[in-house]
Amino acid sequence: MNIGPYSIEDYMHLVKSFHGNVAPGLIIGGFMVDLAKSELPDGVLFDAISETKTCLPDALQLLTPCTIGNGWLKVMDFGRFALCLYDKYEGKGVRVFLDPEKLNSWPEIKTWFFKLKPKSEQDPDALRDQIVEAGTDILTVQHVTVDTASLQKKGKGAIALCPSCGESYPAKDGAACLACQGNSPYKKEPHDAAPGLRIVSKPKNDRD
Ligand SMILES: [Zn+2]
Repeated sequence: MNIGPYSIEDYMHLVKSFHGNVAPGLIIGGFMVDLAKSELPDGVLFDAISETKTCLPDALQLLTPCTIGNGWLKVMDFGRFALCLYDKYEGKGVRVFLDPEKLNSWPEIKTWFFKLKPKSEQDPDALRDQIVEAGTDILTVQHVTVDTASLQKKGKGAIALCPSCGESYPAKDGAACLACQGNSPYKKEPHDAAPGLRIVSKPKNDRD
């Protein structure tokens, strides 16, 4: 049995190196991507949607050309364990979700998915075995049409220099960049030129 071009063992190694641990959701995600791909016509140029920000975006990035960085993967944080691959021009696609109705014969998977026991009381080896044994049996496929117009990338538009931090940002965001409008994740530290940042090289003009 394979996941994408990989044996199960190789896929698990890949998951560990990319994701940090062999998360159950990523093994299921591998079967989900394979199933969705198998339902798409050959040669279709597809984009992807993940309906959760947990695990499935990484399965899609490992097994398809779609990444967050290249814009072909959209993460819509509905918290549903579902993904979709669809023709990027026509919108016709395949949605695959982990089907709660199919979990009754797989108690370890059900316990993990619905958090029926604390993690410390779950059996990770039995869970992994059931996931591999179940394969696509716990999944359901839907043929869908994606409203591609609503997902069109909005360009950044004109670029401005932020009067507060001096860095470039999309002018449409307002008079200052979104970070300087109060959304910065960095704590303010007194005496720093920019909040939480140190200047490690001087601007060119200062050297002259
Ligand atoms: Zn700024």
